[in-house]
Amino acid sequence: MKLIDQYLRKVNYLRVSVTDRCDLRCVYCMKEKMQFLPRKDILTLEEIERLCDNFIDLGVEKIRLTGGEPLVRKDIIKLIERLNYKKYNTNLKEITITTNGTLLKKYANQLRKNGIERINVSLDTINPEKYNKITRFGNIEKVFDGINESLNEGIKIKINTVVIKDFNENEIEELINWTDSKKIDLTFIEVMPMEETDISREYQFTSLTDIFENLNKKYNFRQSTHNTGGPARYYVSDSLSSNIGFISPLTNNFCATCNRVRISSTGKLFMCLGQNDYVDFMDIMRKDFSDNYIKEKIKFALNIKPKNHDFMIDSKINKYMKRHMNVTGG
Ligand code: SAM
Ligand code: SF4
Repeated sequence: MKLIDQYLRKVNYLRVSVTDRCDLRCVYCMKEKMQFLPRKDILTLEEIERLCDNFIDLGVEKIRLTGGEPLVRKDIIKLIERLNYKKYNTNLKEITITTNGTLLKKYANQLRKNGIERINVSLDTINPEKYNKITRFGNIEKVFDGINESLNEGIKIKINTVVIKDFNENEIEELINWTDSKKIDLTFIEVMPMEETDISREYQFTSLTDIFENLNKKYNFRQSTHNTGGPARYYVSDSLSSNIGFISPLTNNFCATCNRVRISSTGKLFMCLGQNDYVDFMDIMRKDFSDNYIKEKIKFALNIKPKNHDFMIDSKINKYMKRHMNVTGG
């Protein structure tokens, strides 16, 4: 079976935010003082698994666990273990996670044992003081240790870097050299206006189009054949051994090829990261509804998946999505 939306896009990729909690407070993601949800308002691991089962029955082939920080969720490995079994008797082909990397040293071995072959690690700088500042209190050594441990386990890593005005714009080449020396891919991401943080988005946002043009003078990029069906455009260069990706929702719209939907930790299905509409599954999961009913609701949601995101950063308009990124996990 295939999930096809009203614009004939095939949706085969589900992202699940398994918790809104995190052990960091990145300044562009969260406010310093965050109110996290009580446990009863968060989907249980069994509810997450049942939702995933229904999506898999409908054609989802790839699931990414995200958050908040997925590795702070108690028993997350049990969920991964259970999902991993499904790769052998369903359509499911891959389970991945997006993590800030702080707990990877502890979990890399268990992740690998339970079928995780690739991980996205978010890292905006390799400078310890700047890292501490952007995450509000993080220790970069933990992330470096986690990355090394994962590579030793044979897990493929991609680094995701949000490019932030007057913060890491001048560190781009350093990051490229660092990832290249480790033979790991790197993707740059534009800041998106997800809910208000303590700093106005216009002071955080910088265009990746300009950054790409500058880098291109040095690297003479060619479009890569590497394609995840997602928003990133990947490039290769004769002077680099890894792929460099650019996710530019604000300056280079990618909605025409969107292949994903997102479940929040509270069971809301967001059909688009850059829109506020959702279909709420929490009640459905907690009352006596059948799997057929769940599938009908998923199909209904797909039918109202919007054509485009609605992101805009403009000081005069002040328009934000009504949720922080930790709700839907990027
Ligand atoms: N905690 C995990 C991590 O940091 O990788 C997973 C969740 S985090 C919300 C997922 C991704 O969203 C990270 O790569 C993070 O840098 C990115 N992100 C958070 N807020 C963002 C924003 N306002 N604009 C663009 N990316 C953002
Ligand atoms: Fe936590 Fe990830 Fe948000 Fe940073 S980006 S605060 S690590 S959820």
